[in-house]
Amino acid sequence: MLLLFSKFYAKCYQSKILLKGNTVFKSVFKSELERNSVKKWQKIWNQTTKGSITKAFFSRVEERLSMKLYTNQALTTILMGHGNIKAYLYRFNIIDSPTCPCSKDDQHIDHLICECELLKPQRDMLRFSVSKKDNWPTSKYKLISNHFKALKIFTNQIPYDSLG
Ligand SMILES: [Zn+2]
Repeated sequence: MLLLFSKFYAKCYQSKILLKGNTVFKSVFKSELERNSVKKWQKIWNQTTKGSITKAFFSRVEERLSMKLYTNQALTTILMGHGNIKAYLYRFNIIDSPTCPCSKDDQHIDHLICECELLKPQRDMLRFSVSKKDNWPTSKYKLISNHFKALKIFTNQIPYDSLG
């Protein structure tokens, strides 16, 4: 019994820390630290001029951190606009033209999601799924928060090799 009491007391003692003369639970201190970190991150995220595509999907850091998203290369390419996309490759002088093989526009994320005729079958499936709950076209924010599964299927079916 004494041993159990000692272990319990040791556990309670370890879970508290002294902060500015006050004893606080480590868990309270940790969650306050996390809250402040997320607040600072959000402030930086709001101020940066980079990552505009990703910002359109995720405007709130706290919300993104609470999402359980299992990503892969195809999805990350769409969420960031970085990868085997002509507009991105052209920006870094890797290819000579940003124009999509469909010839309708530069091959950027919005073109792939909403316009490219080469992705019509994939988009039709995405649009069908989105239309059950939202209007088409919908925002990137709604795509990620309300239609993640359909978006992931869409991104997995983009034949990047034949779009290059
Ligand atoms: Zn196209």
